[in-house]
Amino acid sequence: MQITANNPELRSWISVAPDSEFPIQNLPFGIFETAQHGKRAGVRIGDFVLDLAQMAQFGYFDDLGFVASDFSQDYLNPMMRRGKLAVRALRNRISELLATANHSFRLNESQHVALLPVANVEMCLPVQIGDYTDFYSSKEHATNVGIMFRDPANALLPNWLWIPVGYHGRASSVIASGHPVVRPKGQIKPDDNAAPIFAASRQVDFELEMGFLTFDGKPIGESISTAEAEDYIFGLCLFNDWSARDIQKWEYVPLGPFLAKNFASSMSCWIVTLDALQPFACPTPAQDPEVLSYLQFEGNKSYDIHLEVAIEAPSCPEQVVSRSNFKYMYWNMAQQLAHHTVNGCNIRCGDLMGSGTISGPTPDSYGSMLELAWKGTKPIQMPDGSERRFIQDNDTVIMRGHCAQNGIKIGFGEVKSILLPAH
Ligand code: CA
Repeated sequence: MQITANNPELRSWISVAPDSEFPIQNLPFGIFETAQHGKRAGVRIGDFVLDLAQMAQFGYFDDLGFVASDFSQDYLNPMMRRGKLAVRALRNRISELLATANHSFRLNESQHVALLPVANVEMCLPVQIGDYTDFYSSKEHATNVGIMFRDPANALLPNWLWIPVGYHGRASSVIASGHPVVRPKGQIKPDDNAAPIFAASRQVDFELEMGFLTFDGKPIGESISTAEAEDYIFGLCLFNDWSARDIQKWEYVPLGPFLAKNFASSMSCWIVTLDALQPFACPTPAQDPEVLSYLQFEGNKSYDIHLEVAIEAPSCPEQVVSRSNFKYMYWNMAQQLAHHTVNGCNIRCGDLMGSGTISGPTPDSYGSMLELAWKGTKPIQMPDGSERRFIQDNDTVIMRGHCAQNGIKIGFGEVKSILLPAH
């Protein structure tokens, strides 16, 4: 099925600012609520949200294989359960309805109740996350961490160039943008102490990541190949995988991260479909050594997504501290999904896969405070004269991302969360 919604010539009869991240070529999905209505599915265009539950009641999606109740739910999962082609057809239909050539919806002004100013809605966690897996797929990030904590001469562990390394995270604490995060407490072992102490973390960090959300996969025992992987990917979000470095350092051997990572992970509220990102596909970094056959792939499997992280404090305006790009990732999403399922592990509708911290090649493109401030040795200067080695109480961390090409800009909005003092 053609992705007609990506046509760069399309324009909408809804006024969209030229620099908007949400032109008619984007049409990301989310869950919103208003004072009048409970949670429902919506699509963003410009500064409006199209109420899909209302549109379904008007009959606009009748022939697409959905039922109206798919859209009047707390999460996008019932809509996603219809699968890749149904969601593609739905996005194509929404594009038709919002395009300048449209007559049925455009001229039926009584139906414009389905278009709500985004300022009048509350955005919610879009997907009921089933399982959350986090990868470690940026070579620059893994190298930086290896240099800081192990051996600069052997910064990458021997398996890293062969395996898209990952671990199983925690789904219950994945929260939507705007939801505050409380500084975690736990066991910390200061370097000059023989025994650990129990305290609030002193090294709360962000991790600049992107997440992808899956459709239903194959039954347990079967695998998804790199060639099939994109059929199982619904879309992407911005993802801040909050981390407590001091807790992490003491607990992570031998089984990996636990309480240092599972206190909160923040995701952006608009899911940009993998379909919408196709015009921005680009090559991935060359892989040497050659990967095993099940990890080999053809075509452009990465996406040119500009990313940035900013910190804002009560006494201090927003300061951009990092600019990176999704395309720096060494292991791509198709390889991650192929690896995740090569042993027969099943994935399900609403699973979330984190990319791992996305660090670029230069020090201003690193994706965590750990790297930006290089283990605290190079603090970041803030506009009010203060310094940051890690995130302080009442700091707000904001991540943004967008693709741009030939005058079309497609963005993810932001994931923004304040760090509150420990309880
Ligand atoms: Ca992570």
